[in-house]
Amino acid sequence: MKELRLVVDPIRCDAYGHCAELLPELIELDDWGYPILRDDEVPRHLRGDARKAVASCPRLALSLERARAKSKA
Ligand code: SF4
Repeated sequence: MKELRLVVDPIRCDAYGHCAELLPELIELDDWGYPILRDDEVPRHLRGDARKAVASCPRLALSLERARAKSKA
């Protein structure tokens, strides 16, 4: 199964903070109410909650994407 990560579009986000209420394990808010992703890779046990947070975003600013493979340095 592919790894998923959360992505926030800062242009669309209106800082209402619904996502942080639904997924506090991965999202916290800055002083202005904009989300800060604690860990962009979504653990499997939080995928359902992550999908709910994405679906609940009123600005369609939050999305789930497949994580890119880490490059080897
Ligand atoms: S729910 Fe959407 S619009 Fe609201 S703070 Fe989160 S990402 Fe931004």
